[in-house]
Amino acid sequence: MNLSSRAHSLFEAFELPGCPVCRLTQDSVHHYLDGLIYEYVNEPDTHIAVRAARGFCPTHAWHIRDHINASALGIAVLYEGMIRTLLRELGEGGRRQVTRAASTFKPQGPCPACEHQAHVEDHLLRNLLDHLDQQEFTGAFSRSAGLCLPHLRAALDTPGDADAKARLLDIQRDIWTELQQDLAEFIRKRDYRFANEVMGREGDSPRRAIEQMAGARGLR
Ligand SMILES: [Zn+2]
Ligand SMILES: [Zn+2]
Repeated sequence: MNLSSRAHSLFEAFELPGCPVCRLTQDSVHHYLDGLIYEYVNEPDTHIAVRAARGFCPTHAWHIRDHINASALGIAVLYEGMIRTLLRELGEGGRRQVTRAASTFKPQGPCPACEHQAHVEDHLLRNLLDHLDQQEFTGAFSRSAGLCLPHLRAALDTPGDADAKARLLDIQRDIWTELQQDLAEFIRKRDYRFANEVMGREGDSPRRAIEQMAGARGLR
């Protein structure tokens, strides 16, 4: 099998639970933020990007706070500079500050982590589509949890081969057919008349359904 390194990561992620693109994107964004907080917090470019964005978006700001160890000093350094800039741009009191504030508070650029995330998602989806003509790769993808709906939409919007997209949809149809049957079986077994039947693989189908339709927790 001839795989690029991103496609190889996908191939490995197919064996894990959940949407493989969500999983790899989450890992990549986490490492990006981890590196930014430890290695790049004193880089002028990092400060410029964070100031322009008026801080990280809520998803990524809370990710740093909750999931990056010992991030407090990095947060303090970045946000102290940003809030100082906001205060300076806000200037003195009076009526004129109201209009000035409205434009000062607007982000002048994207959240740097959102930008990184969009770039990673795009690469992963292109790699997925590019390798769907390889049988071993496609076979492993068919046995995976499949793409979540947001990533499936993004894959269809990616410029590229219509045949690859049709193959993607064929695989996804089979995966969702199985999920739909699991949900129906779950509902049936919840009926009191069948309450003595033991739950099988359908037991966690409601959670899988949420993940399939919404994407992984904490990604958006
Ligand atoms: Zn996904
Ligand atoms: Zn963000």
